[in-house]
Amino acid sequence: MVKCAHYLNKENSVAITGIKGFNDILPGEVEKWQRIEATARRVFQIYGFSEIRVPIMEKTELFSRSIGDATDIVEKEMYSFTDKGENRVTLRPEGTAGVIRSYIEQKLHVLDPVTKLYYMGPMFRYERPQKGRYRQFHQIGAEVVGVTNPRIDAQVLIMLRHFFRDLGLTEPTLQINSLGCPECRPAYRAALKGYLEERRELLCDDCRRRMESNPLRALDCKVPGCGQATAEAPSVLDHLCRGCDDHFVAVRRHLDATETSYAVNHRMVRGLDYYTRTTFELVTGLLGSQSAVAAGGRYDGLIQELGGPNLPGIGFAMGVERVALLLSANASAKAPDLFIAAHGEAAGDEAFRLMTLLQGQGFRVELDYEGKSLKSQMRRADKLGARHTLIIGEDELANGRGMLKEMATGVQLELILEAALLAEALSSQPSP
Ligand code: ATP
Ligand code: MG
Repeated sequence: MVKCAHYLNKENSVAITGIKGFNDILPGEVEKWQRIEATARRVFQIYGFSEIRVPIMEKTELFSRSIGDATDIVEKEMYSFTDKGENRVTLRPEGTAGVIRSYIEQKLHVLDPVTKLYYMGPMFRYERPQKGRYRQFHQIGAEVVGVTNPRIDAQVLIMLRHFFRDLGLTEPTLQINSLGCPECRPAYRAALKGYLEERRELLCDDCRRRMESNPLRALDCKVPGCGQATAEAPSVLDHLCRGCDDHFVAVRRHLDATETSYAVNHRMVRGLDYYTRTTFELVTGLLGSQSAVAAGGRYDGLIQELGGPNLPGIGFAMGVERVALLLSANASAKAPDLFIAAHGEAAGDEAFRLMTLLQGQGFRVELDYEGKSLKSQMRRADKLGARHTLIIGEDELANGRGMLKEMATGVQLELILEAALLAEALSSQPSP
């Protein structure tokens, strides 16, 4: 027999690992993800959102133009490269830019003056991996295009709260702010810049640089010295123009009227340049410095900036990994309804036949494929948390009857080994 080289050189084959910051999501964990995704789909549909699926790669200029050149994302976090056709492309670091690019390109505003979209999928940022921060991570996000009225700001926030409530999470808490608009932000920028210049010595290198290009980012800096230096910084809320102030007051009024709890955080700036007026974060105290679970805001200038009509927009994205970290581990794999333990070859065949018929009817049934001892099969039934077990030995096979045992109560029921009768017995004790 000729053995292939692959076998002969076994000692040379070193296992290939995944890329740092790119995770596998394994069974046991993936059930939480499915629950998060299913909850998002269900809740977002209630509020009139439809799913959109856009590519995970776009032209680099889409992100530099929308997110802004002087942001952390564009300056240092993007996975950009030149493809074989000499095109500059980037793995998307966030979802809004691609969704709005598609909205404009596919002329979705022609179909309906108000467009509500949601998306889910992987995003890529070259960051330092740690708990709750990865290089491939996943977002679920939503965008509304075409509504200026502050009721939509409130509705988006109410929908987010609804989503977290349905997942059984009371955390995270909602923080809101207003970043003003092109009318009023320049004056605030100037005031903040003046304040920062007086404290230049106390700021980190990044913030000294940001002072020129994007001084608002200094308020968001995670270096403790910068936090102290900016503690008394002027508040953006004191610099809003009339229109922005009215808008923010109305958003809060709608949140109050619907008993949606929130806190105003005037230091909250977002890491993307396109935000105007309302911005918000859902914040948790349980994930260290990865405290933002979801974040978003209004982006009234973005659609025109990207070559589309002059329409307002608002949206958010949540980090699925961070939501999953907040969910308790007990949402893991669904336990089988029944484990069939069989003794001997013929009993094994019968167990297999019954399992297949029951699975066809939607029951989760497991058995042992390897001919292990009855004792070891029962240990496995235990490990899987099977709700019922059924043992088929030589006697059971001979007289066509078996004992169905409900594990939680120990109650046993003798019944004829027919799939229909088993199905009836299993459904008389519904799944939790
Ligand atoms: P942070 O301040 O934690 O860096 P961010 O402001 O960069 O967050 P956004 O760009 O607003 O985050 O993205 C929205 C959400 O996506 C965040 O609130 C977070 O839950 C999630 N997120 C962002 N970056 C990562 C990452 N590298 N790994 C995991 N989740 C992330
Ligand atoms: Mg970030």
